[in-house]
Amino acid sequence: MARINDNFLKLKAGYLFPEIGRRVAAYTEANPDAALIRCGIGDVTEALPKAVQDAMHKAVDELGDRDTFRGYGPEQGYAFLREAVAENAFADLGISADDIFVSDGSKCDTGNILDIFGPGNTIAITDPVYPVYVDTNVMIGNTGEADEAGRYEGLVYLPCTAENDFVPAIPEEKVDIVYLCYPNNPTGASATREQLQAWVDYALKNDAIILYDAAYEAFIQDADVPRSIYEIEGAKECALEFRSFSKNGGFTGVRCGYIVIPDSVFGTTESGEKISIKQLWSRRTSTKFNGASYPVQRGAEAIFSPEGKAEVAALVEHYMANAKLLRDACTELGLEVFGGENAPYVWVACPEGLTSWDMFDKMLQEANVVITPGSGFGAAGEGYFRISAFNSRANVEEVCKRLKALL
Ligand SMILES: *Cc1c(COP(=O)(O)O)cnc(C)c1O
Repeated sequence: MARINDNFLKLKAGYLFPEIGRRVAAYTEANPDAALIRCGIGDVTEALPKAVQDAMHKAVDELGDRDTFRGYGPEQGYAFLREAVAENAFADLGISADDIFVSDGSKCDTGNILDIFGPGNTIAITDPVYPVYVDTNVMIGNTGEADEAGRYEGLVYLPCTAENDFVPAIPEEKVDIVYLCYPNNPTGASATREQLQAWVDYALKNDAIILYDAAYEAFIQDADVPRSIYEIEGAKECALEFRSFSKNGGFTGVRCGYIVIPDSVFGTTESGEKISIKQLWSRRTSTKFNGASYPVQRGAEAIFSPEGKAEVAALVEHYMANAKLLRDACTELGLEVFGGENAPYVWVACPEGLTSWDMFDKMLQEANVVITPGSGFGAAGEGYFRISAFNSRANVEEVCKRLKALL
């Protein structure tokens, strides 16, 4: 009989979003008339920018004509998109089009990147965390079993708490790979230049690699908050950056993202030979991937057109105004509120005596609002809940009203 990858059996069965789905389904089955508002999963709600729609329509027309038809594209992504990214998203940061690897999104990228790293690395993740980083490490065999609290043996957990402003302290021990995500999902926190510099300095000193997830870069409002890890001195020697068009351009269903891999990031073989990470990822990509589709890459390129930029700015403004309404409503209720200032997530301390799942059930049953329990993102998320600002204005206003009636 075919052997399976036993590591998959270590994954905790009660993964966050299926459990939320189960509770929501049970509630709506018992209460079919409930007017549920979903602020749980971090999915965008507003329509694709017109500039993107037009570019994708045009690309489809090109494919429909024999003279302009295109088949397989370059595995690394079309030059037109990689150049637009380098010029617009990384201007003056010393990143070239050649450093950009276009993909079908960051979820896949943050998981797939483990292909090129060997066993035996010490891997650090924040707690709470975007669950993809953890589960992909479990799947590939980088961990032991989970304990009662759901923490996997072998991973280094970096607590992110109100005390450290949800940016982890530099660890005492040496780690080889660390995942950082700022602005953060789920806490909505952003990291300062000094905090990121401390992490880059640590990585350089310890020959570690930082996997920097900047999916929420577009939501940064504060001019002092770094938008890219490459704004930090030394980062080109130790960091990869993951970017996605999902949250800024509304591409969660369209699918496009990219990884930035500078030439100067290296790993080592077992015998100590230095190997370029970019060279490995390039090899991996050309073997296992055939690129994001042409219309999608044309759509992504349009995000950087003057019209596209203006439309993305309007989308960000819409979601961030939602975040402000949610923040203000929770603050007025006397709740302790974090995030929502440079990220579309508001992270709220549960009222006294309620766990994250208690609060989830209370919101679901008494306010018909779906939130995300903080404990689903890790043990240190217990006692918090996340409200997503990805919604219509009318829904957010209604959520604020229901919150006030509830508490
Ligand atoms: C939404 C999100 C992404 C983007 O994922 P895609 O696969 O590109 O849609 C990446 N990282 C985090 C933390 C996210 O929340």
